[in-house]
Amino acid sequence: MTPFAYARAADAADAVRLASGSAAAYLGGGTNLVDLMRETIARPAALVDVTGLPGTIDETPDGGLLIGAAVKNTALAEHRAVRARYPVLSRAILAGASAQIRNMATVGGNVLQRTRCLYFYDDDGARCNKRSPGQGCDALHGFNRNHAILGASDDCVATHPSDMCVALAALGATVHVLGAGGARAIPFVDLHRLPGAHPDQDTTLAPGDLITAVELPPLPFGANSAYRKVRDRASYAFALVSVAAALDVDGGTVRDVRLALGGVAHKPWRATLAEAALRGKPASADSFRAAAAAELAAARALDDNGFKIALAQRTIVAVLNGLAAKAQGAQP
Ligand SMILES: Cc1cc2nc3c(=O)[nH]c(=O)nc-3n(C[C@H](O)[C@H](O)[C@H](O)COP(=O)(O)OP(=O)(O)OC[C@H]3O[C@@H](n4cnc5c(N)ncnc54)[C@H](O)[C@@H]3O)c2cc1C
Ligand code: SF4
Repeated sequence: MTPFAYARAADAADAVRLASGSAAAYLGGGTNLVDLMRETIARPAALVDVTGLPGTIDETPDGGLLIGAAVKNTALAEHRAVRARYPVLSRAILAGASAQIRNMATVGGNVLQRTRCLYFYDDDGARCNKRSPGQGCDALHGFNRNHAILGASDDCVATHPSDMCVALAALGATVHVLGAGGARAIPFVDLHRLPGAHPDQDTTLAPGDLITAVELPPLPFGANSAYRKVRDRASYAFALVSVAAALDVDGGTVRDVRLALGGVAHKPWRATLAEAALRGKPASADSFRAAAAAELAAARALDDNGFKIALAQRTIVAVLNGLAAKAQGAQP
């Protein structure tokens, strides 16, 4: 491991000050960053420990929730208001990692965890544009069963690994950031990037930007929401495909819907085409199939992952069928 300095931030402003002017990284639970440092894929000159920053979940005046970046994944998943008003978020977090990792992992760190592409972690011979820009991408024609079907480029076909982020994308969350230029708010769907020609840049954040909180807007039908993760084993595996959804049904018609996909793209994928196709349509399996097909129409398969296109469509339909049944008082 490359030697590094360590400092513990007293507050958010202190963290940004400590991180300025050096190749520093913020340290949350360390469950991703420390692995990357051990493999020398991440080589920060300094770690700024932000686990002492506010770890609270507070009501906002408009009826949403403000979640401190240092809140542990377990605490967020188990929070009473989250379970009651945004169960999709609770279920998504609980579908990830293990209880021990969720006890350590923070909201800020989960949002900024890096891809699980095997070639990214293989510093010993594999070519990877995300790790070493300009080197090439061994996944493009390599083992790419887990890789992207939407929004990829020839420079990178990696997927974003987080489950929690899929729910945050569906819920229309906002990320609060403090940087050298002051505080700002970023719509969650604009935080992560598609790879394009710069897959080394995961997000739109600037160096030294600190995530201070994630805000959930009020969502009156958020209680009718769900997360489904399809993976190779029942636990301790990243998503092949996942679906986060919330559905509002009025008299058999879709009044409103929120839908996002995981495991399919370089960023959590908000399914805006499917959402638009569903509003005002009957809450039926036919509508859900048509919406899923509209969202996946632009999907492109690699050598090993063509199965994901049909899998994503079937998972969308299954999740929406369940929510429609629940909304109409029947058992899913
Ligand atoms: C074996 C294993 C299995 C896993 N399975 C899953 C899974 O199935 N689903 C899933 O979603 N996740 C999974 N994970 C990933 C896990 O969720 C992440 O490692 C964890 O959420 C990262 O949180 P952390 O606080 O430990 O982040 P850290 O490792 O501390 O940091 C991660 C990144 O975020 C940055 N960072 C941290 N806090 C801030 C902040 N406030 N502002 C700006 N930058 C910040 C760090 O500098 C670093 O770049 C798994 C991890 C492991 C080890
Ligand atoms: S898919 Fe992205 S992360 Fe994986 S090897 Fe290619 S450039 Fe690297």
